[in-house]
Amino acid sequence: MKATIMHAPGDVRYESVPDPRIERPTDAIIKLSATCICGSDLWPYRGISKQDGPAHMGHEYCGVVVEVGSAVKTIKPGQFVVGSFCISDNTCPHCAFGFHSSCAQGEFMSGAQAPYARVPLADGTLVATAELPNAEMIPHLLAVSDVLGTGWYAAVAAQVRPGSTAVVVGDGAVGLMGVLAASQLGAGRIIAMSRHASRQKLAREFGATDIVAERGDEGIARIKELTDGVGAESVLECVGMGESMDQAMGVCRPGGTIGYVGVPHGVSFDGQKLFFSQRRMLGGPAPVRRFLPDLMDRVLQGAIQPGKVFDLVLPIAEVAEGYKAMDERRAIKTLLRVE
Ligand SMILES: [Zn+2]
Repeated sequence: MKATIMHAPGDVRYESVPDPRIERPTDAIIKLSATCICGSDLWPYRGISKQDGPAHMGHEYCGVVVEVGSAVKTIKPGQFVVGSFCISDNTCPHCAFGFHSSCAQGEFMSGAQAPYARVPLADGTLVATAELPNAEMIPHLLAVSDVLGTGWYAAVAAQVRPGSTAVVVGDGAVGLMGVLAASQLGAGRIIAMSRHASRQKLAREFGATDIVAERGDEGIARIKELTDGVGAESVLECVGMGESMDQAMGVCRPGGTIGYVGVPHGVSFDGQKLFFSQRRMLGGPAPVRRFLPDLMDRVLQGAIQPGKVFDLVLPIAEVAEGYKAMDERRAIKTLLRVE
């Protein structure tokens, strides 16, 4: 088959690779219904994070199981499944505690920007639907796999509660999903920090009540103004840069909580400042597996439409253009059609 390989920064190709096959008895092979490009794929694409040699790209996926290994018990060929970008056994102490992204047997999914993919630890990682979903549902179910699951975790980690005030730092796909999550979790006020008209519009659609276009000290001042000088009890940091973390710290009230899901690049903390600021923090790679059943239900019941975050759809053979469009910020997130 052909699949997406990143050879070097800026060099993504759709080219021939060996077909995926069962390597361990706990594996499954799925035929993807659709796949997509993640904001985190742009880190190696831009040369900000280093890679050793060609990499099989893609960790967001949903599709139909075509084959399972001999030790797979609950997942069956013919089922439609969604999995997390973190592979997990769903049985170890960390999974039992809800932190599947720290699974004792954990690894990161790869190779999903392709027509077929191998999913390790299939029973623990995949969640099946009762029936095959119809085509309109696919983008929404695909979004659950990472981008929504990650935005959801940002909101949960930031302790968004009914009636609370949440600030979302970052208007990329994850930030927009963070807005949707905060809205679903009942936040009374959701302030989205965004400078782009199209993203502001989507943020409003997902439930933002206020938009703040200013950044840095001006952004902090504006949010203080909107919150009677206090700041927000919940802050979702969805970027991972030093500036965005400073922004999150600056708009959070003492005793408030920051949920941070942007992979940190150039973020550091001053111990003294952290001590006196009295902010609570939880972050990391999202334990999406914890949220999958609930989020898939919300999608299938029509309560949420996270797939609206895909504003560019391309055939997978044009994956290189999908990366370029996201790199140049012409697209928020690219969905890749798989034939
Ligand atoms: Zn585990």
